[in-house]
Amino acid sequence: MSKYVPDVLTHRWVIIASSRLDRPDNFNAKNRSHKVCPFCPGNEHITPGEVFRIGKGEKDKKGWAVRVISNKFPITDYHEIIIHSPHNSREIEHLPEAHVELILKTYRERFNYYRKKGQVIIFCNHGEDSGASIKHPHSQLVVIPGQINLDTLTREPLNNIVENNKYFYTYCPDFSQWPYEIWIAPKAEGAHFGDLTDQHLGDLASLLKKTLKQLEHIYKKNKFGNMSFGYNYYIYPHSNWYLRIIPRFVHRAGFELGTGLNVNIVDPTTAALEYRGMEMRMVNVLNKLKSF
Ligand SMILES: [Zn+2]
Repeated sequence: MSKYVPDVLTHRWVIIASSRLDRPDNFNAKNRSHKVCPFCPGNEHITPGEVFRIGKGEKDKKGWAVRVISNKFPITDYHEIIIHSPHNSREIEHLPEAHVELILKTYRERFNYYRKKGQVIIFCNHGEDSGASIKHPHSQLVVIPGQINLDTLTREPLNNIVENNKYFYTYCPDFSQWPYEIWIAPKAEGAHFGDLTDQHLGDLASLLKKTLKQLEHIYKKNKFGNMSFGYNYYIYPHSNWYLRIIPRFVHRAGFELGTGLNVNIVDPTTAALEYRGMEMRMVNVLNKLKSF
């Protein structure tokens, strides 16, 4: 069982969840070779019980397109894993858009299932440096009691817009804490993630996939030490929701951890231009012109 421990002075909380210690680590090369992937089709019997699926087949058998199970190593009382697809290595940026839509539909269904029980956080860790412990692409859903204060940012003002379609914008907020951080937000004011209609889902899938693809392109073009490609994203649980993508191209160290001040080495205006496909030398010229 997990417990919530408050810091009475700052009203911040920490969750002590020692069962997480037993988590598998199949990124570790030594383990990877002889361990089967619990999220691959045919291994459904290894995972804890299935709670939801999109696609064919019986519960806990093959045939699914997206599968949701409870987490064996929960952070909180309600903690689920959303397995993106039967493919062991196809990330969102490499799945067909229609399939990305199914993943988002699953997010919406599970979000609505839990929304009265607390604050529903849906997040995805992709890559070795992002905290993912099983390689097979998946997201997680955690429900946190309503009375626990979260540090989660409220929606940042719309600046440095990269793309927009009928219902959504992508943009790099001026207050970006990470290099190439990018947000997706609905055009509608006051919206909740759980209220997305099927029409919205298509538009959202298209922007999410496109943005992650652009991010991968930026990663390949630039040099980021020895960091592998990775990112985290999460969905804000309250009204005026947004989806925040945090690329993991840099490590956070003592200064940031000690002060809470983040040093972002890429100006969000520059990041937005790069997402829009502007070549780096053009970006430099534009930035120079702006400074006159
Ligand atoms: Zn797998």
